Amino acid sequence: MYPSTFDYVAPASLSEALDALAAADNAKILSGGMSLIPLMKMRLVRPTTVIDISRIPGLNTIFTDRGDHIKIGALVTHAETAASALVMENATALAQAADATADIQVRNQGTTCGSIAHADLAADQPAAVLALGGTMIAQSVRGTREIAAADFFVDTLTSALEPDEILTSIRIPKGGTSVYRKLGRRGGESDYPIAGAAVWIDSSNGSVADARIAVTGVSSKPYLATASAAAIVGTDGSADAIAAAGSHATDGVVVLEDLYATVDYRTHLADVYVQRALKDVLA
Ligand SMILES: Cc1cc2nc3c(=O)[nH]c(=O)nc-3n(C[C@H](O)[C@H](O)[C@H](O)COP(=O)(O)OP(=O)(O)OC[C@H]3O[C@@H](n4cnc5c(N)ncnc54)[C@H](O)[C@@H]3O)c2cc1C
Repeated sequence: MYPSTFDYVAPASLSEALDALAAADNAKILSGGMSLIPLMKMRLVRPTTVIDISRIPGLNTIFTDRGDHIKIGALVTHAETAASALVMENATALAQAADATADIQVRNQGTTCGSIAHADLAADQPAAVLALGGTMIAQSVRGTREIAAADFFVDTLTSALEPDEILTSIRIPKGGTSVYRKLGRRGGESDYPIAGAAVWIDSSNGSVADARIAVTGVSSKPYLATASAAAIVGTDGSADAIAAAGSHATDGVVVLEDLYATVDYRTHLADVYVQRALKDVLA
C-alpha cells in the first residue's frame, strides 16, 4: 500500500528541525525509516509532515561524555552501536542488543535512538538502556529535557517524548558489567524477541552490590524487573539466587499471549532468559 499524502522536509540543522516540528500539526520524525515507513505504508500512521533528520550534521557520534558516561547521538545506526568499542566496553548489553536487532540491512539503516523513540514492546535496545540506567536527552524549541530510561517507556509504541520533541541522544553511565540475551521469534538472535533480558550488575568481593534487570517482548512495554534485581542484590550470585531472580521476572506485569507464545510459555521464557543473562554476567 502507498502512504497517504504528506509533506516532506529535510532540515539541514537541528534548530531547523525543531522549528519545523513545532510548526507542524501532525508531524513524524524520520531517522532510519525502518519502522516509520512500514507503518506509513500500512496507513497505521498518517503524518501530514515527515521531518527527515538524517542529513543533520553532528548527530551520528558516540563519545565519552562527562568522563564517566557515553553518549550516543540520534543518527548512530544499530550497526555502529554494535561495532563501537566504547559501547562494547562500557555498555556491553547495548552493543549486544544492537547486534541482535533485525538483519544487517536494517542494522545499517535503523538507528539506536529511533528504536528507543519507537518504543516497540519487543524491541531489543530499550531493554539494554533500561538495565544500563540510561538517560534520554530530548530537545524541542522549548529547551532540553532529560528523561530517565525507567520513565521513558510508557506503553506499546508510546514513549514519554512530547510531540514537539526530538530524541537527540542517549547517555549511559560507565561502570558495572552487563549482558543482553534473547530468544528471537525464529529461534535465532536477529529477529524481534519472544522474550529477552538485559542485566547490569555492580559486584565487588564476590557479592552483587547492585543490579538492574530489564525484560522485553513479554508485556506491553520493556520493563525493569525490580523484584528480580532485589533477589540477586546482596547475594554471591549462587545458582539458588539466580533461580530466585528468574522466578520474579514477570512479577507485577500482564504477560502477552500471541502467535509465538502462550502466557505460560512466555512467563517461562522470561524466567529462563533472566537466568541466562545473570549467569553470563556473573561469569
Ligand atoms: C525487517 C525488520 C526487522 C526488525 N527486527 C527487529 C528486531 O529484531 N529487534 C528490534 O528491536 N527491532 C527490529 N526492527 C525495528 C527496527 O530495528 C527499529 O524499530 C528501527 O530501526 C527504528 O529506528 P529508525 O531509525 O529506523 O526509526 P524510524 O523508522 O525512522 O522511526 C521510528 C519511530 O520513531 C520516531 N523517531 C525516530 N527517531 C526519532 C528521534 N530521534 N526523535 C524522536 N522520534 C524519533 C519516528 O517518528 C517513528 O515514530 C525491525 C525492523 C524491520 C524492518
